[in-house]
Order: sequence, then structure tokens, then C-alpha cells
Amino acid sequence: MIIDVSRILSTEGASEDFTGEFEIESIDLSGSEIKLRLGTYTARVSNEEGRTLAVSADPVVTVTRPCDRCTCDVTEKYELHVDEVFPISDEIASTDPDEDGQWLDGNELLIDRMVADELLLVLPPKVLCKDDCRGLCPVCGTDLNHGSCDCDRSVLDPRMAKILDVFAGNDR
Ligand SMILES: [Zn+2]
Ligand SMILES: [Zn+2]
Repeated sequence: MIIDVSRILSTEGASEDFTGEFEIESIDLSGSEIKLRLGTYTARVSNEEGRTLAVSADPVVTVTRPCDRCTCDVTEKYELHVDEVFPISDEIASTDPDEDGQWLDGNELLIDRMVADELLLVLPPKVLCKDDCRGLCPVCGTDLNHGSCDCDRSVLDPRMAKILDVFAGNDR
């Protein structure tokens, strides 16, 4: 949703709830795609004494992204608290890309982007489907949570290979 704040900007003390659809389907976090679902949510926009424009929302975003070890989809919910205040000035209606411009484009408040940016602040960089996820076999790709294989994984593990090199060196 994009909120037209022109009426609130021009009316001291005005406050209004806006309800609309969250339209961002995915974001990129260091190269991996994160799918977002929120549906309809409500944000409150208030003109505080003609001086500041206050924006608040408490959306619950459903996030789906791959497990860092086995790549299966992991779905989590994040309860967010968006709380921002923009100073109201004569220039607020003009786009200023340097200051709050990424959220306020003229009289249009890009509330979806505010929610997505807030999510990026609280989202841990990696997720595991479970704490003891065993990941994929690096040789044949078998999901070791659900099966096993006869691959000699110790040699191909780069950390292990280094240790083996050291032992080989000591032999000489
Ligand atoms: Zn996993
Ligand atoms: Zn294997």
C-alpha cells in the first residue's frame, strides 16, 4: 500500500488509520531471496501539532527462506513495530532522496518499504530449519536429515582436508 498523506499534512492534529495490502513479495538478503507475506494491514498516520508527521504500524510478517544448511524452506513470523516521525516543513512535499526520501515520495508514504526495512533490521542473517540440522552431503547432495549415504565426506570437507595435510606433512 502507498498512503497519500496530503490531507493529513495540511490538517493540524489530523490522525487517520489506513488499511491496505502489503505489496512487496520478496527482498534480497546477501544474495538469497526472502519471501514475504503480510496481506492486509493497518498503519496510523498523525499530524502532531503541525510540526511532525508520525507513522506507526504493528504488522506481523511471514517470512520464508532457505535453511542455511539443507536449503529446505523455513517459515517464521516476525512481529514488527514501525514507528517513524518526519518533520513537517515546506519542503516535505518535494522528494528529497537524501533525507527520509526513501519512504516519503512527495505526498506518498511508502509504508510497505518502511515495513520491509524494519524487517531487515530485526532479521537474523541466517536461519536453520532446526538447531541440529545435518545439512546436505557435499558429495552427493543427500539430505542427511532424511537419509544417509556412503560418501567419504571427511576428505572433501576443506577443514578436514587441511588437518589431513598437516598430518601428511608430519610424516615426512
Ligand atoms: Zn535444514
Ligand atoms: Zn553422499
